[in-house]
Amino acid sequence: MASHLADPEHNPSFTRGVFLGELREDFIFPFPELPAEEKENLTAILDSFRAWAEATVDTAKLDHDAKFSDEVRTGMAELGMMGLNIPEEYGGFGASALLFSRVFGQVGETDAALAVYFGAHQSIGCKGITLFGTDDQKKRWLPQCASGERIAAFCLTESGSGSDAQAMRTMAVPSEDGTHYVLNGEKIWISNAGYAGVFTVFAKVPVEIDGKPKQRVTAFIVDAHAPGVSLGKIEEKMGIKASDTRTVSFKDVRVPLEDRLGEVGGGFKIALEILNSGRLGLSAGSSRGARKILDTALAFAKERKQFGRPIGSFEMIQKKFAVAAAECYAADAGWIVCGLDGGSRRH
Ligand SMILES: Cc1cc2nc3c(=O)[nH]c(=O)nc-3n(C[C@H](O)[C@H](O)[C@H](O)COP(=O)(O)OP(=O)(O)OC[C@H]3O[C@@H](n4cnc5c(N)ncnc54)[C@H](O)[C@@H]3O)c2cc1C
Repeated sequence: MASHLADPEHNPSFTRGVFLGELREDFIFPFPELPAEEKENLTAILDSFRAWAEATVDTAKLDHDAKFSDEVRTGMAELGMMGLNIPEEYGGFGASALLFSRVFGQVGETDAALAVYFGAHQSIGCKGITLFGTDDQKKRWLPQCASGERIAAFCLTESGSGSDAQAMRTMAVPSEDGTHYVLNGEKIWISNAGYAGVFTVFAKVPVEIDGKPKQRVTAFIVDAHAPGVSLGKIEEKMGIKASDTRTVSFKDVRVPLEDRLGEVGGGFKIALEILNSGRLGLSAGSSRGARKILDTALAFAKERKQFGRPIGSFEMIQKKFAVAAAECYAADAGWIVCGLDGGSRRH
């Protein structure tokens, strides 16, 4: 298994250093630039996405309808967005973290629900297959994910286990003949659930250690259309409504042995690795989205007049903007620290 992203021996952290009072400037300077070829690719991807989104993505309508139209989903697939960071050999574009995060930022700036759809699919949904799948698993699942034919989702959270993910109760019991696992349990708050064709699911497998029965968290690739998989109703969120969030239930679902991801007991580490890499894109999408909101609010504050003056000229409003701008800058700086902005900042 690859070294743990959070392992300081293999991946020393700038941010950790900040907490310890040690500024490792050598980690962030010179500021990482995208290589020329990647810069060209990035410009082409951003230009085609922006042009398509302008003509197709109507955020107010998507939020009102609480679902993506076929046109939006097909468009994202045809643009190649759903395979952006899936390796080329499995049908994707093979984008680096730098390029992927920059594009994620643009999607977040365009429509937050679309960013969740885009991110839940490849940042977490099928990321486990990319990082930990066997060649056979990658060949069987990733090309369909890359083309957008199968949307992926990540099933970790349960009603009794959120932050404390290891407290999960979903179980995967090996069949007597050893050909498959029988999966039972319920996951909640699953992004992309209603669009999904494949789930990465975390469940406990019973094992015997030193003669004592134990349970070990293990990861599985589960066909969303397998008998026994069912979906709850769409969660009524306050925003990002088109990103379909639901409960996913598993009732005696047969998961073939060849769809176990990694070793028995390796699931928790796999979940953390996926979430660690997923957070990079998510932070890019969120910080660009926040900046877009700030720009929109600023335009309104300049245009809206009360007492004969734009409201943006009042000190109290200016204070709010100062705080928001500082927070947006800090969020953007997170990219810089991670070297994820690729030298292509527009603000
Ligand atoms: C829109 C949306 C989409 C989601 N999509 C997915 C998805 O695709 N797949 C998936 O598996 N899950 C998904 N989730 C679930 C999400 O990952 C969980 O909400 C998250 O793990 C936190 O769990 P929880 O909500 O049960 O909060 P809890 O664990 O109950 O935490 C509640 C609060 O207590 C705090 N807290 C908990 N433990 C500690 C501690 N030890 N010390 C200090 N504070 C603590 C937390 O920080 C939090 O503020 C989604 C959630 C939302 C809202």
